[in-house]
Amino acid sequence: LYRLLPRVSGVNNGLAQINGEWPFVERVAEILRTDDKEYVHSGELPFQRLEEGIRFDGVTLTYPGSTRPAVHNLSFTIPRGSMVAFVGTSGAGKSTLVNLLLRLYDPDTGHIWVDGKDLKRLRLTDWRERIGVVDQDTFVFSTTIAENIRFGRLDADDGAVRRAAQMAQAHEFIAQLPAGYETEVGDRGYRLSGGQRQRLAIARAVIREPEILIFDEATSALDSRSERLIQSAMGELRQDRTLVVIAHRLSTVVDADQIYVLQDGRVVEQGTHPSLLAAGGLYASLWRIQAGSAPAYP
Ligand code: ATP
Repeated sequence: LYRLLPRVSGVNNGLAQINGEWPFVERVAEILRTDDKEYVHSGELPFQRLEEGIRFDGVTLTYPGSTRPAVHNLSFTIPRGSMVAFVGTSGAGKSTLVNLLLRLYDPDTGHIWVDGKDLKRLRLTDWRERIGVVDQDTFVFSTTIAENIRFGRLDADDGAVRRAAQMAQAHEFIAQLPAGYETEVGDRGYRLSGGQRQRLAIARAVIREPEILIFDEATSALDSRSERLIQSAMGELRQDRTLVVIAHRLSTVVDADQIYVLQDGRVVEQGTHPSLLAAGGLYASLWRIQAGSAPAYP
């Protein structure tokens, strides 16, 4: 974590220092605010690629200063190459899973196994290099679209920027902007819509060619066209990746291989979209609420 500090401060005075780790910056900043935290230590085992999958095994985490576990005795598997989704009402523990996967926190009890090895034993830089994160709130820097995508991988050439944008279903809207990829965005430039920002975030994550992609969906409502485009981007991305989706809109996860429904830090239901609908439980009622109204949870 301390290794990241100069990069965090580099956001203000020289973006070149961020070196591809910037998706973690906001989450790291959150942790830096809790001063009673024991920082995680890197393990020693090299990590190159996922062979079988990730397994949470009885994982419990209580945040420092809190009295209640944010996640409680969680067990589930994310097989390599699958799309696994987590849904649940606000505060159910979805973002905590991401924090654990990124090793911003370690479990108090239980284990996270990666191909049978405890995640704590893996070299942290190796692990994080192979993960891409599409965060809830995409930070748009005041520079060109191309540079905004390149923040995912600073040495990416124009072809790679374009391919990432295509995969994220962002190329079409970018091509229509006044100066295409060179259009200035952010505070003083062209204002991107919520859906465009999310696709920019996907492009920024996929340009790193991550093996595991975590998509922590924004809560903001999207127009139906943006929603369709993001769904189609995810359809393409799942082809050769392991996709972990934290979903606020259930429409995002209808095609997931497995959906886990969280409530108060526990898995209360699991299955595919049709099987969960048929079960008539929490998922089915969330689906009914969303189908009848706007996107986010009640
Ligand atoms: P949302 O859909 O609103 O993002 P979530 O399902 O992602 O919610 P989490 O953010 O994982 O839920 O929160 C789970 C529980 O942990 C909540 O009770 C929350 O208040 C608590 N929590 C989350 N982050 C922290 C933190 N850094 N310190 C203390 N408690 C936290």
